[in-house]
Amino acid sequence: MEITVLGTASIGGVPEWDCTCPNCAAARKNPTLRRTRSAITVTLDGYKHILFDAGHDLKIQLETNNITPRPETAGETYRESRLDSVFLTHGHADHTAGVAEFCTGKSFEIPVYAPPDLVDFLFGTETHPNYFGELGRLAKNYVKPIKLPECEPVERLGVTIKGFEIPHTQVLEDGRRYPSTTYTYEIEYNEKRVIYAPDLGRLDKWLLERLEGVDVFLMDATFWWDNELERISGIPITSYQLGHVPQEEAVEILKNADIGRVIYTHFNHTNPAVDPASEQRKIVENMDQEIAHDGMKIKL
Ligand SMILES: [Zn+2]
Ligand SMILES: [Zn+2]
Ligand SMILES: [Zn+2]
Repeated sequence: MEITVLGTASIGGVPEWDCTCPNCAAARKNPTLRRTRSAITVTLDGYKHILFDAGHDLKIQLETNNITPRPETAGETYRESRLDSVFLTHGHADHTAGVAEFCTGKSFEIPVYAPPDLVDFLFGTETHPNYFGELGRLAKNYVKPIKLPECEPVERLGVTIKGFEIPHTQVLEDGRRYPSTTYTYEIEYNEKRVIYAPDLGRLDKWLLERLEGVDVFLMDATFWWDNELERISGIPITSYQLGHVPQEEAVEILKNADIGRVIYTHFNHTNPAVDPASEQRKIVENMDQEIAHDGMKIKL
């Protein structure tokens, strides 16, 4: 099984379009420091891929990583999808905006698996359609939304995938999640196990137990400090309030965990660990944990 890390940033990417902070300025100068919105693909044969999350940068990510149609297999209509299926974690735009990209490929009817309330949030119903319900006349049935119950295993390309709820999105008074439930995905093939959690609000005990023995844990690193947004951007809201475990705490919690590789992703432009020369980068590396970069390959 091979994972391609398509993107490693949170909602604004690095650089953010309206920011001149040191990380954004450095990324403008040096393209290798740029980060697109977080997503991964999983493949066994290098040809067909399973996509996890579809953010604003999906099209350019597929082009950059050569997950593009091949003339020899595309046939008479010139069209081909190298994506077998899509799994969405939750309803924030950096994980779903890219669904709009599929509106050109109506013949593919790509299966899009998601928590049941996320399917309703994105696609609505025939009588009450939502934004993704119909993106245009050509786009009707461009994807096949599938409500995925928690922990129900799905087999795609021989890989077993299970989604289960983790804390991240807002819990409303009546118990509904806004804008949807957040899933993490457990991806299993040939006794190798990966857990993908780009957005995670707490590293609770039950989750740490579930992580025991996992080969790769791809983990939320939106912010390093809990008060990072106030500190750097002057926005008075904390990492925990936004549903993200601060990375400085995650590094400590995970240092003795029985996990093959801890790899951080979903970086906000303000996270100092984005800078390869930073003290925070050294802290992560000294713990034998890793910082993902766009285009990273993980082989299992
Ligand atoms: Zn996100
Ligand atoms: Zn910035
Ligand atoms: Zn989110």
